Amino acid sequence: MKNRIWLSLAHMGGREQEFIQEAFDTNWVVPLGPNVNAFEKALRDFLIGNGKLKVENEGKQVVALSAGTAALHLGLILLGVGEGDEVICQSFTFSASANPIAYQGATPVFVDSEEDTWNMDPVLLEEAIKDRLEKTGRLPKAIIPVHLYGMPGKLDEILEVAGRYNIPVLEDSAEALGSEYKGRKCGTFGVYAALSFNGNKIITTSGGGALVCPSEERAKRALFYATQAREQAPHYQHEKIGYNYRMSNICAGIGRGQMFVLEEHVARRREIHDLYVKLLDGVKGVKVMCQPEGGDFNSNYWLTCITVDPEEAGFTREDVRLALDGDNIESRPLWKPMHLQPVFKEAPFYGNGTSERLFEIGLCLPSGPMLTDQDIERVVKVICDL
Ligand SMILES: *Cc1c(COP(=O)(O)O)cnc(C)c1O
Repeated sequence: MKNRIWLSLAHMGGREQEFIQEAFDTNWVVPLGPNVNAFEKALRDFLIGNGKLKVENEGKQVVALSAGTAALHLGLILLGVGEGDEVICQSFTFSASANPIAYQGATPVFVDSEEDTWNMDPVLLEEAIKDRLEKTGRLPKAIIPVHLYGMPGKLDEILEVAGRYNIPVLEDSAEALGSEYKGRKCGTFGVYAALSFNGNKIITTSGGGALVCPSEERAKRALFYATQAREQAPHYQHEKIGYNYRMSNICAGIGRGQMFVLEEHVARRREIHDLYVKLLDGVKGVKVMCQPEGGDFNSNYWLTCITVDPEEAGFTREDVRLALDGDNIESRPLWKPMHLQPVFKEAPFYGNGTSERLFEIGLCLPSGPMLTDQDIERVVKVICDL
């Protein structure tokens, strides 16, 4: 049997163990400590310390948490989302974008994607807002756009619509660490933004996430909710419902080490994408998803995705997936849209057919930073031999 080629494996940079050892040696084996502080600072520097930051970004602070899902949940809490509210969410995404809306007793309103970036369609977004206002007499409380597979959404247009109705944006940047829109890092556009460091993301802390907050004061509030909402008192005093969402100092040690290889890993993922584009060029009916031209969009290409037109190709997406599996290569259909998920079948949906079609014909290919060019050639050969 040939060696297994995985979709997206974590890869350690080399210094992770050093920071973990330091945590043990200094007895910081708790959900706070020097690694947590240093990791937050490194993330903040990475996101906004590039000299291109706008004035409105200067106050932003990063709070390290136990998961990206926790970051999205706290973002909604800090935006005041509660029972009976509606929150607009991109339908074409992983369930973790939408679940925290339900945690708050609010209703997700799903909006379909546009063709260019596969992310939230700004035209449909406005239609949804208008229709919700007409039907419920109230505006949605927040908007959650996603940068799917690392591709930045149409942020200018989305933010323009959100701004016109004065609805805050909570950016789901879980897959987009290192991606840029108009020279500015994804995760700095929304009032809040969520990052993920799950095992298969751009960098990992074995499991973890972070919330990018607009100010020091808001970051303190996030921290308050993430550490059981303990009021200032010598005893344990509680006036709000709290959560146990803080990142541990051990996990943050891994994250600190990963920051040294972040740029390298993003560069390699982009290289892998370009190699797929080159090698699949001319294969009939198979298209590699590419960022819109013109330089505004700079994807980290977390995962390289293809679409298969069965008429033109003579085979289907599922034929490709099974053939790859037969060669011990992992691949995966694109995210199944949330409006098609049984758990969200009652939720309102504003659609145009894009995400349903992409779910039918799309496939994620192996894209981890440690894949060799030969691995990519092996993947492509299986597709070409169909
Ligand atoms: C991974 C992911 C999340 C959740 O992050 P976790 O750290 O796994 O909780 C949220 N949204 C999207 C789009 C993701 O891919």
